[in-house]
Amino acid sequence: MTLRLVVASANPDKAQEIADILRTALGDGVELVARPGDVPDVDETGDTLEDNARLKAIALRDATGLAAIADDSGLEVDALDGRPGVHSARYSGPGATYASNVEKLLGELEGVPDARRGAQFRAVVMVVFPDGREVSAEGVVRGRIIDAPRGDGGFGYDPVFVPDEDPEGRTFGEMGDGFKHSISHRGRAVRAVAAQLAALR
Ligand code: IMP
Repeated sequence: MTLRLVVASANPDKAQEIADILRTALGDGVELVARPGDVPDVDETGDTLEDNARLKAIALRDATGLAAIADDSGLEVDALDGRPGVHSARYSGPGATYASNVEKLLGELEGVPDARRGAQFRAVVMVVFPDGREVSAEGVVRGRIIDAPRGDGGFGYDPVFVPDEDPEGRTFGEMGDGFKHSISHRGRAVRAVAAQLAALR
């Protein structure tokens, strides 16, 4: 049976990544439905990634009557005691852009030596069904923050994040989407959720 799922993310970059990873994991077993344009943005008022993922999935489940998949994600920087974390999208304040967030991050890390620039992306992905059941998983990728952006690919903090698992030392912004998804926090979380969905069928 094909599972119809609405992708709850209003961020087109993240929605695209989730859709790509799910299609790769589930093939014909999933039919992805675009987020209806008339659903307002969901206020991310939760204190945790899990709370925010649930808020977004429930809002789209309720708006469409379909099972909905949402993620919430953030960058946790060791030298900043885990900030910006759940506040990553609006790190540099109201009207934040990817560029202003990266600029603020590099400013806060100015003078911090390489050995202390460790960081990780974390994602929580959650599916909420019309009958109230939930399926969720978390994914993490470790790496470090470099001191100047490199690469035009990806989005957000990708140009300043070098994952430990890339033998070539590229940023997420310098590698193809396929390789990013194979090691990324979102890739890991979506694949773990996809495995749980496949087991339900
Ligand atoms: P939210 O999940 O919509 O709250 O947004 C999380 C924010 O974290 C995004 O706007 C990005 O700034 C950042 N982020 C999350 N995942 C990634 C990623 O894969 N690459 C780069 N930045 C990311």
